[in-house]
Amino acid sequence: STAFLNGEFLALEDAKVSVLDRGFLFSDSVYEVIPYYDGRGFGLDAHLQRLARSLDMLGIAHPCDMDGWRRILAELVEANGGGDLAVYLQITRGVPERRDHRITHDLTPTVVAFCQDRPPHDPAALTDGIAAVTQEDTRWHYCTIKSTSLLANVLAADAARAQGANEAIMVRDGAVLEGTSSNVFAVIDGQLVTPALRDTILPGITRGVVLDLAARDGVDHAEPETLTLDALRGASEIWVTSSIREIFPVTRLDGAPVGDGKPGPVWTQMQERLQAMTDE
Ligand code: PMP
Repeated sequence: STAFLNGEFLALEDAKVSVLDRGFLFSDSVYEVIPYYDGRGFGLDAHLQRLARSLDMLGIAHPCDMDGWRRILAELVEANGGGDLAVYLQITRGVPERRDHRITHDLTPTVVAFCQDRPPHDPAALTDGIAAVTQEDTRWHYCTIKSTSLLANVLAADAARAQGANEAIMVRDGAVLEGTSSNVFAVIDGQLVTPALRDTILPGITRGVVLDLAARDGVDHAEPETLTLDALRGASEIWVTSSIREIFPVTRLDGAPVGDGKPGPVWTQMQERLQAMTDE
């Protein structure tokens, strides 16, 4: 497939960065994953705005403006034949002359983008739901920055997989935050809830879309400051949302059924609404 590296389009296997790249050495780097449906980016502007915020929070120079990103990604998607893709975009602080914790502030950022297939979901994930486990959150506190420092996330996801689960839901001081690569929603006493945004939650683009859809559909919803693990265990529905998963119903939590153990009616409604949007 075709990749983009520092202004050039080239074969993915030929895209190489220096071992001195601060993204490689220190995860001094941010990223986005943007879903494409039939060659069109879904929520592209929101992803690019979040990317700009991540760059600002780390003080990394913006390699290009919104229009520049749109042009690069359009050319990349076209070169990869369009269709249903996940576009990965990463910007690192750049390549200093020597390894040094201290930041050199005039580096030229490294820009990498490539596409992966976005295969259709396993139908069982939608008919039966997925299993999730809860886990103590060991990540740092700056989770609003979409940085590539994902070690705690990948270890938690791997531990979940080892327990036969599809996602780990991270809990800190008894409060439910988010999944390792998703946001969390629940239906509790008939109300749709997702934890209010804070430092330790990524403002998910899909999370925002689902809240908008709930508002438009008149679904009673709230963003509580604290969603306790106890409250989550009493939910009639639990979902995880992300650009790749869209909305997955969680029907088993830590081995116990969620509600009646089947995807629930509020999920069905929101899933249909989101499907209609991505089909547009
Ligand atoms: N939280 C984390 C930690 C994530 O990695 C992701 C996936 N990017 C999400 C939430 C969901 O965000 P989005 O809907 O923008 O994909």
